[in-house]
Amino acid sequence: PLSLSDTVEAHRICVCVRKRPLNNKEVTKNDIDVVSIPGNGTLLLHEPKQKVDLTKYLDNQVFHFDYSFDESSTNDLVYRFTAKPLVQTIFDGGMATCFAYGQTGSGKTHTMGGDFSGKSQNSAKGIYAMAAQDVFALLKQRRYSSLDLCPYVTFFEIYNSKVFDLLNKKAKLRVLEDEKQQVQVVGLQEMYVSCAEDVIKMIEMGSACRTSGQTSANANSSRSHAILQVILRRRNQVHGKFSLVDLAGNERGIDVRSSDRQTLVETAEINRSLLALKECIRSLGMDSHHIPFRMSKLTQVLRDSFIGENSRTCMIAMVSPGMSSCDSTVNTLRYQGFPN
Ligand code: ADP
Ligand code: MG
Repeated sequence: PLSLSDTVEAHRICVCVRKRPLNNKEVTKNDIDVVSIPGNGTLLLHEPKQKVDLTKYLDNQVFHFDYSFDESSTNDLVYRFTAKPLVQTIFDGGMATCFAYGQTGSGKTHTMGGDFSGKSQNSAKGIYAMAAQDVFALLKQRRYSSLDLCPYVTFFEIYNSKVFDLLNKKAKLRVLEDEKQQVQVVGLQEMYVSCAEDVIKMIEMGSACRTSGQTSANANSSRSHAILQVILRRRNQVHGKFSLVDLAGNERGIDVRSSDRQTLVETAEINRSLLALKECIRSLGMDSHHIPFRMSKLTQVLRDSFIGENSRTCMIAMVSPGMSSCDSTVNTLRYQGFPN
């Protein structure tokens, strides 16, 4: 087994990309795989110059990342190079944040929440659960057991700028900011957890809450951001916080004329919050003192992630391999603004 020190030197922002395999639907439609991972840290996109299905019109583009994972990569491998090095941060009294970014269907929930075996989710095999396991492994170590750290979990969703508690029947919650700019989600359930299995139970409970009770076809989980937080408290004060964020789909090509008003409002809201996130991460990388966290509800509730010397962030961009997803893939790959 690998230890936390097996990964490369600590850096505050790590940006990675993960390609999922072509799925059966894409294979059936004769979709072409236009993404390849020629070496670690690079991604090659064979973008069609015109909207034609002929590979000879492809234009190769190279993108660079800290790590790039191809379609044979497991969640375990992705975890080891992305979220795992951040677990230590919360024990050292810092804020750690890991984002899954990409269009709907690119593998965000698969990576964060766990594998799908048949129709049901195997939460034990995602980054959420693996991070929880490592948190409990470190809690047991002698150097940390003397700190009297208590672990808690919150799990909530941001949809159209509104916060809903996934551990409390989707209760709608208010976000308040005090004069010291401390942001609080009022009434958010913070559950004490005594082992990794407790966390997995919360993930399952919250994920079920996330996807159920949808009235409109659009109001599904892909239009909302889901945030799981593992909080370490010491004498009731927050010692460290790990936020694991399954972002709303950033897909391109939503037809303005044929979409209903709700879809347009949702899309505008998602774009706004993803832009705000980009700006906040950029300020973090530049050690800027001005962090525009009020630009969106997402960045407001994650304010702690962007401040402090001890904050570390990892972004995992997910891409679908098919040519039919090309517009969204380019959009995802260009979501840079990252100083690396
Ligand atoms: P998203 O959350 O980004 O909308 P999902 O995680 O729900 O996407 O993935 C869409 C589908 O693709 C799911 O059925 C999922 O199991 C599958 N999938 C995603 N990533 C992978 C992968 N790396 N390997 C195998 N299947 C994957
Ligand atoms: Mg999802």
